[in-house]
Amino acid sequence: MTETAEKPIKASELDPKFKYEISKMHGGEKLMRCFQCGTCTSDCPIARFSETYRPRQIIRMAQLGLRDRVLNSDTLWLCAACFTCTDRCPQDVEVASVIRVLRNLAAEKGMVPQVFKEEASSILESGYAYRIPELRLKKRETLGLPPLPKGNPASIGKTLREIGFLKCVEKKEG
Ligand code: SF4
Ligand code: SF4
Repeated sequence: MTETAEKPIKASELDPKFKYEISKMHGGEKLMRCFQCGTCTSDCPIARFSETYRPRQIIRMAQLGLRDRVLNSDTLWLCAACFTCTDRCPQDVEVASVIRVLRNLAAEKGMVPQVFKEEASSILESGYAYRIPELRLKKRETLGLPPLPKGNPASIGKTLREIGFLKCVEKKEG
């Protein structure tokens, strides 16, 4: 996955059907209402600390049909799903939900950042999103802290498999 928003746009990249595809999905219905005022970006807590994350830009790319660019963009995964943009949009665009729709489309193609794939494999192995180092577990023991509760990776794995999540993270990009 690469950051592609800055490269010149070629007409051949535009997919006119993309906006309709998004508009048919739950949360993406109001995509075309966006008139690019920039309120979502100016109020977004992530955009405040990032040089590249701009929800307004993601929405515009989706409207224009820049399917591959938007789905390949690492910044798509920076959204914290705080819904500030959705609350403040004067056009009632459900910005956070559009971003969720785009992430789902990206995930269906295996375009999931490595860090999330690693979290998924850790959940499958241990039931924890973060692999707790052996050293830290030993340190707990020496400090007299109780052992951490056991995860239930088998049950989580079953759920993740049934909702199709595993297929998405195991899929190669493309
Ligand atoms: S706040 Fe709404 S209308 Fe304004 S740029 Fe963001 S999505 Fe578009
Ligand atoms: S939901 Fe995502 S895009 Fe919207 S304000 Fe929060 S972090 Fe920014």
